[in-house]
Parts: sequence; C-alpha cells; structure tokens
Amino acid sequence: ADELVRAVDRIMKHADAKRRLRVRANADTPEDSARARRFGAEGIGLCRTEHMFLGERRKHVERLILADTEAEREEALAALLPLQRQDFIGIFEAMDGLPVTIRLLDPPLHEFLPDLTELSVRVAVAEARGEKNEDDLRLLQAVRRLHEQNPMLGLRGVRLGLVVPGLFIMQVRAIAEAAAERRKAGGDPRAEIMIPLVGAVQELEIIREESERVLAEVARETGIELDALIGTMIELPRAALTAGQIAECAQFFSFGTNDLTQTTWGFSRDDVEAAFFSTYLEKGIFGVSPFEALDRDGVGRLIRIAAEEGRAARPDLKLGVCGEHGGDPESVHFFHEVGLDYVSCSPFRVPVARLEAGRAAVAGEGSDSR
Ligand code: PEP
Ligand code: MG
Repeated sequence: ADELVRAVDRIMKHADAKRRLRVRANADTPEDSARARRFGAEGIGLCRTEHMFLGERRKHVERLILADTEAEREEALAALLPLQRQDFIGIFEAMDGLPVTIRLLDPPLHEFLPDLTELSVRVAVAEARGEKNEDDLRLLQAVRRLHEQNPMLGLRGVRLGLVVPGLFIMQVRAIAEAAAERRKAGGDPRAEIMIPLVGAVQELEIIREESERVLAEVARETGIELDALIGTMIELPRAALTAGQIAECAQFFSFGTNDLTQTTWGFSRDDVEAAFFSTYLEKGIFGVSPFEALDRDGVGRLIRIAAEEGRAARPDLKLGVCGEHGGDPESVHFFHEVGLDYVSCSPFRVPVARLEAGRAAVAGEGSDSR
C-alpha cells in the first residue's frame, strides 16, 4: 500500500509540474477549506454564502427583505454583520495566502420567505375565528408581492443586491473587516469579491461602485488597505455575449456552468430528473446530461466567446470556472484548451482535476492559444 501511495504521489507531482490550469475548490466553511487544501486546492474558486443565512439567521434576512422602515433594515443588517465577519475570518484563516473568491448572496428568494400557502391558511383560519393578527396580515401582503412562479429566474443574485438596499454592502464590509482582522493577526488574506447572475454591465457598475466605497471606508477605519479583486460570474447567455462590456468593469470572470447550462438550454437545473430528460438520453439527443459533461457546442461556445471578448477588452482578466463541470475530467480538457486560468470544484474532485489538467497540458491542447 505504501508503494501505491508513493506511485500516486509521483503521478500527482508530475501532473502538477506540467499543468497550466490552477485548481481551486468550492468551499464555504473553514472545515471544507482545510480539507480542500489537503487535497491540493490552490484557493477557493467559489465560497457560496447562502448557507450563512439559514437556521437562526433566517429571521434577520426575512426582516431585512420585508422591512418597511430604514430603522428596521438597519437593525437586521447590524445583526448580520458580525456573524458574516466571523464566517469569513475562519475561511481566510484556513486558506491563508491563497485566493478566496466570495460570492455575494445568491438564493432564490422563496428560500427566505415564509411559505405563501401556509401563511394564507394561517391568516384564513385566524379570520374565520374572528381573530386578526396584524403582523401576519402585513407579512402576507409582502410575501404575495414578492411571490414568483419561477424563483430560479427571478429575484436572485445581483437582482436581490440591487432591490434590497444594504445587503451586498453589509457582505462586502464583513469581508473587508474580516480581512483587516486577519492581517492584524499576521495573516495573509486574499479576498476576491464575486457578483452573481449579472446579465448587464450596468448591474455590475452599481454594485462595484458601492463595494469600492465600502472597501475605502474600512481601509480608513482600520488603517489596512485591502486590495480585493472585484469580478463577476458569467452564468447567463447575455453576460457571455456582452463579455467585452462586462470586462471593462470586472477584474475576473468565473463561469457558472450550472446556471449557464440551464439558461442556454432553457431547462431547469432543478428538474433534471423530469420525464423528458430520460427520453432525451434514450433518443441520444445528448449522450450524458449537459449538467454533468459540458455541452461544448452550445455552453462551451458561449464560454469561448466570453473568454475571447473579455480578454480583448482587458488582457489581464482572470478567468475561471466554478460550476459542477470544473471537476469533470472531460470538461477540464476543454477549459485548458480555452485558456482559463483555473477550475474550481468540490474538494474531493480536486485531485482528479489536477491530474486531468496535467494530462491536457501534456497533450498540448490549445498550448499556443495564449
Ligand atoms: C453555477 O451556476 O454554475 C454556480 C457555480 O453557481 P450556483 O450553482 O451556486 O448557482
Ligand atoms: Mg449560479
């Protein structure tokens, strides 16, 4: 067994020496970050922040979204800020010296709102009893107003950041304060701030300007200058097709191939078990699900366009991928060939991605494309 371990070690070293693609991991806790590092991850390519708003904290988000007054909003944000700061301190510590791409909140809204049916029933039952709960009535009105038929195509990502004042700013402040605190403790935090679901450069411009203002504020308060990168996910066809404009405002792109596959094909990533999917597989319309292996002709073509036009607009634009395909061997070859800088995948897939990135480099795929 020792011999086997040594052999695997030799192969990995060889692959690492050859590969041009960097390999990062998708991780959003200090534990996952530490595990990813043990598997050889060279940073975090996607730190999702959605889970940080669940459980006990859900009530603050609910209050924030439904707030009627500035004071209510401020109160909810003030409750969330220190919790977020602690989240990021732990992750920066685990990934000390390596890039950590933190994605601002991107939940489908319904995950944070009370269930409409449940709430309606509660209100109806109360009314039938001749009782009237003003809070529930107010809540019901707000939930009705925000209810969506297609939450995955609705008030998510940057749209939520634009509609709910202060939400993204609170997150950026938490990142900056956490990084400053790590720096004071002798650490080396490398933050990258990522905006999700951007489809137009104007969305990014607004959030970037607000973010830069907060970064400067925290720098003044702490005396520590944080040179965080600000970039975006490319996960909508329109973002890929206007990548030249978007790159003017982004220091990096990370391809979100989960959403990009969903929106390019026009079918929901949540319904891949739906009846038509098995029929499509049977009829050979696609060999494997495009959510597993990258659809090179469609989604891949959009990635190629975005990489080329993005780099033409900004030659030092950093390019990565953080959708599920980042850890798929076949897809890793494609990402090498297109000239991305890194792939990011779940910690357990990091060794495979390292190996495939090495094989792609040895095979010389697209070796002179950059
Ligand atoms: C994606 O869309 O590919 C992505 C990485 O983001 P999420 O899966 O969180 O939507
Ligand atoms: Mg996405």
